[in-house]
Formats: sequence, structure tokens, C-alpha cells
Amino acid sequence: MTKPILFNFTDAELTDFVIQSGQPKFRAKQIREWLMRGAPDFASMKNLPEILRNDLDKSAQTLPVKIVKKLQSADGETTKFLLELFDGEQIECVLMRTTYGNSVCVSSQAGCAMGCKFCASTLLGLKRNLTANEIFAQILVAQWELRSDKFSDKPIRPNGDANNNDVSHIVIMGTGEPLQNTENVIDFIERANQDMGIGWRRITVSTCGIVPGIDRLIEWGRPINLAISLHAPTDELRSKIMPINNKYKLSEVMDAAWRFTDLHNRQLMIEYILLGKKDENGETVLYNATPEYAEKLSELLDGKNCMVNLIPWNAVDERDFASPSGNAVHRFQDILIKNGIHTRIRRERGTDIGSACGQLRLNNAKKQN
Ligand code: SAH
Repeated sequence: MTKPILFNFTDAELTDFVIQSGQPKFRAKQIREWLMRGAPDFASMKNLPEILRNDLDKSAQTLPVKIVKKLQSADGETTKFLLELFDGEQIECVLMRTTYGNSVCVSSQAGCAMGCKFCASTLLGLKRNLTANEIFAQILVAQWELRSDKFSDKPIRPNGDANNNDVSHIVIMGTGEPLQNTENVIDFIERANQDMGIGWRRITVSTCGIVPGIDRLIEWGRPINLAISLHAPTDELRSKIMPINNKYKLSEVMDAAWRFTDLHNRQLMIEYILLGKKDENGETVLYNATPEYAEKLSELLDGKNCMVNLIPWNAVDERDFASPSGNAVHRFQDILIKNGIHTRIRRERGTDIGSACGQLRLNNAKKQN
């Protein structure tokens, strides 16, 4: 029998569990506090008697995720976790210590069904949706890690925030399509706001463009940030690299996105991976990153309140693309700037630890086969 996961218990269930184990009621509150700090095991719950800690260790599990692997970038800023769920599925989450705060990138599904041609997450297909608890547990893992920074030689970021050992920002940009698991994602965000005090405006949902999902976010009404993974400014090109574009056309996706940002008076985040291809001589030629596409992208976004994040492609062995040169990236950006579009080049973090989407999970699955 698998051990019960105490984090999944309601307060009433946790109290029952504690009483049935012959313990006073107040232990339930103590255990909940440790769970909310992300305690990975019972041994860490220092205010519980040792005998109880040992008993719990035999009969229960703390969080619905177990750390399989933890990778630390050389600069100490990025920590990537490979986590295992109760059914053996694996997911990834990434903690980024930045000057503006501590941001966690969480997964919303085990695997992905979207089939984007440049991405590693989708290569093994979709396994299942994550529960709200499984998404929440990822920020708790990061929270525990941040608290342990204090006692290590890792730099603590001076972010002008007294609570700089807390998770302050969440991006739902890990493996999976959040708007294919919308209700659990909404449930998770509500709780991150309520239980962890993370402001709506510090939470970002990134989607490949599921229109009914964006409409659901509009109906829900919380002023979070929306990011659209665009990657191409025309239907013709987008359909080649993102199968979802055959279902929801660019104009429908953009209409829904502008409705969302108008409602909340927010800036829309646009993600645009810059892709190249190898020609027959092994030279990299630009794919969606040509000057012509920069002009088309500018037309699409003209006069709108948005920020284009240009993302140099993180190479994935199985994928038939190449990363364009730094010069090509800057040329593309210069055209956007000339046309009055806000843009920045996303800083690469943790490339030394394979932080590109889905790489760690994929490589681990390959090893096991
Ligand atoms: N399904 C959601 C969220 C997960 S993907 C979405 O599509 O937005 C998060 C972001 O990482 C997306 O913009 C995705 O296109 C991008 N991405 C995927 N593979 C990548 C790679 N190899 N290098 C750089 N960015 C990648």
C-alpha cells in the first residue's frame, strides 16, 4: 500500500489522522505548518517528538512530490528539480533567484499533448494533468530550498524585499499546457495567493493559445499576467511549428489575449523563440527569425500594450532546429525597437544544468529505457 500523503489531507482529515495515531490534536497544526514550509521529510519537523517523527516516517509521506534530482547552476542563481509523483510520473520545476525576487517556474501537466516542433516537453506525449496540490507542492519545494540558502554559501539576492528567502513570483511555464488543466491551475493560483500571499500580478500563466481557456481566465477575473507563446507572426508559419494553430487561428488567439489584458489593464507578454535551421552545408539559416518576420510581428502588435520576450532556442537533440547567432537575435530585436515595440532578450538561466523545457525529464526517461 502506498503511504498517505499528508499534504493532500484537509485540516479535519489531518486532525483525525493525528488522533488515530494516539497523538494530541495540536500536533496536526504543527505538521501543517511544516508542510506549508515544504518540509520534505518528517525528520525535519524539529518540534515533534522523535518517536512520532519515526512513526510518521514509516506510515506517511509529507508532500505529493519527491525530489529525484536537484541541479544547481554554477552561479548559484538557478536550481532545477526533477520531482516524482505518487504514480511514478516525473515533472520539473525551476527556482530562479533574481534581482526582483525569487521566481519559481512550475509544471502543470506530466508531459504535454501540444506537439510544438521545437519543444522537448511534448516528445513523450501527455501522461496526465497535475492536481492543484501537485502544482502547489512545487513552490513548497522551492520555498524549502530558499530557506536552506540562509545556511549555505549560496548568495542571497539583495532584492530590497525583507522576505528575500520567500518565493515571490510564480510562472506557470514548465512542462504542460496550463489551459488544458485550467480548473486545477485556477485552484492552485487561488491558494498560492491566499496561503502564500503571492500577489496576482506576480503570477504568470503561459499558454500556446487555447482560446476557451483564455476566456475562462477572463470569466474568473483575477488580474494575473498572461503570456502567449507566439513564435510566429503568420498562420502559415505558426501552423508549421505549433499544431494548436490549426485549431485556434492567430487572430482568434490575439483577440482573446487583448480582451484579457484590456479587462485588467495589463501588459501582454509575448514569447517568441528565435529559431534557425541547418542548411545542407551545415550553416545555420534563419527560420522564424528573419527581418521579414520581425516586420510582420511588429505589424501584428502595432499600438498594443505588450512586451516581446525574445528567447534564444535551447537546443534539444531530437529537434531539427538550430539557435541563431547573437547578431541575428539583435538584428531581429532592432527591427522591433525601430517599430516601437517593447522587447527584451530573455536572459538564459541555468543552461549549464539543462534548464530548457522538459530536458531533464526527457533525459531521465531515456536513461531508464
Ligand atoms: N504550454 C505553455 C507553457 C509551457 S512552455 C506554453 O506554450 O506557453 C513555456 C515556454 O517555453 C513556451 O513559450 C515554449 O514555447 C518555450 N519553449 C519550449 N521549448 C523551448 C526550447 N527548447 N527553448 C526555448 N524555449 C522553449
